[in-house]
Amino acid sequence: MNETDRSEIYDVVVVGGGAAGLSAALVLGRARHRTLVVDAGEPRNAPSAHMQGYLTRDGMSPAEFLALGREEIARYGVELVRDRVTDVTSDEDFTVVLDSGGAVRTRRLVVATGLRDELPEVPGVAERFGRDVLHCPFCHGWEVRDEPFGVLASSAMSVHQALMVSQWSKDVTLFLHRVAEAELSDLDLRRLAAAGVDVVPGEVAGLVIEDDRLTGVRLADGTTHTRSVLFTGPRPVPRTGLLERLGAELDETPFGAYPVVDPTGLTTVPGVWAAGNAIGFSEQVVHAASGGYRAAAAIVGDLLMSRLDAAVNG
Ligand SMILES: Cc1cc2nc3c(=O)[nH]c(=O)nc-3n(C[C@H](O)[C@H](O)[C@H](O)COP(=O)(O)OP(=O)(O)OC[C@H]3O[C@@H](n4cnc5c(N)ncnc54)[C@H](O)[C@@H]3O)c2cc1C
Repeated sequence: MNETDRSEIYDVVVVGGGAAGLSAALVLGRARHRTLVVDAGEPRNAPSAHMQGYLTRDGMSPAEFLALGREEIARYGVELVRDRVTDVTSDEDFTVVLDSGGAVRTRRLVVATGLRDELPEVPGVAERFGRDVLHCPFCHGWEVRDEPFGVLASSAMSVHQALMVSQWSKDVTLFLHRVAEAELSDLDLRRLAAAGVDVVPGEVAGLVIEDDRLTGVRLADGTTHTRSVLFTGPRPVPRTGLLERLGAELDETPFGAYPVVDPTGLTTVPGVWAAGNAIGFSEQVVHAASGGYRAAAAIVGDLLMSRLDAAVNG
């Protein structure tokens, strides 16, 4: 923890030190802004050993990626604390309240708090998440290609997931679990058949694990299906508490409520930007890093113009 005096106002406080927050902090530090990152240290992809699809970093561990990011922002004097922001209030600036006690003042705010994945309540699913229970074929599909896949339905939208993962394996079984077959449209059924996806009705009761590997899916009727990978669609729960507190407008989507933002990530609250999974469930690491960059660049311009305008207007 940096021992700098925090009673002085920061130019920017970044809430969240994942890819989005660290990327914003890097750009802000390099633009010579006094910047503080407050990070609770629970990045979304922590359950995974490897991060895929980020050019030049494909296969790196998420923990190493973030450790490198923290090293990079430190080079430019950005401070980072392991803490949680519990509240934010605004007057002409912002007061950011920390869980450990105390508060800091800042002129601008980046909310990069990510989201939480709420998994279906099937025994074993949470424990195996990020290993052989997966949510995203772009993240993990290549590594498990051609294996026998199961897809655990959480709603009729799981048909889309079953169709998508058939790009990575021709052996896919969709377990309808608590979704009634009648909820699937004719087009769904025809597409599933065209993709060669088997559809199995009935509730999933648990997973079969042998030698710390998924080997099957067990239904409530006692039958088991040999599968070594299970895809499922967790319910994304965006961390919008701070934005709501500030009065930011949110947009309800089938995947949660996200702040209304402009192309730079500026929310409807002047001075407050958002980036990464805080603005959308499908933001991958590369998008989150890019969103953080974009927000930071906009903030640099915004701070400069407000300083110049204050000088111009006396
Ligand atoms: C299992 C799994 C595997 C994945 N694999 C890949 C992959 O291979 N490739 C890929 O591109 N994407 C992958 N993703 C998606 C990836 O996790 C996200 O794209 C990425 O984490 C988004 O970055 P972020 O900075 O928005 O959020 P996060 O990485 O989640 O970081 C948010 C940070 O904010 C902190 N925070 C939250 N609230 C507060 C608060 N109030 N105060 C302080 N700090 C707070 C959190 O603790 C966390 O450290 C995967 C996701 C999962 C679930």
